[in-house]
Amino acid sequence: MSKEQLIEAAKEMLNFSYTPYSNFKVGAALLCKDGSVYTGCNIENASFGPSICAERTAFFKAISEGKKDFEAIAIVGGRNGVIEDFCPPCGVCRQVMSEFCDPDTFDIYLANAENKIVSYKLTELMPLIFGKDRI
Ligand SMILES: [Zn+2]
Repeated sequence: MSKEQLIEAAKEMLNFSYTPYSNFKVGAALLCKDGSVYTGCNIENASFGPSICAERTAFFKAISEGKKDFEAIAIVGGRNGVIEDFCPPCGVCRQVMSEFCDPDTFDIYLANAENKIVSYKLTELMPLIFGKDRI
């Protein structure tokens, strides 16, 4: 699957995002090394703490179905589901990615309103990772 297709899958997830409090909708599409794709959206809660990001939704769906090898994730987002600027993953999601992804090879694709796609390696967004090799 191309990065453009992965971005389109992430955009579809904006339709399912549940954000009555922030109205900031995020969609994600996670590409596994076997070619399968797991999507996710952010889901808020009145108690805020139980809210979850689109990226972690996608990861936890995939991991709960036995996937552990990941190649890339596409992420889009914006207020009221309208994409304007790039929507990078939050720190918590970067930490979750670091548990399951090779930081030197895992790609993170972001798209803006003009459909320009930028690509980062996890290590670029999260240097000096606290990972399982430190425990
Ligand atoms: Zn997050």
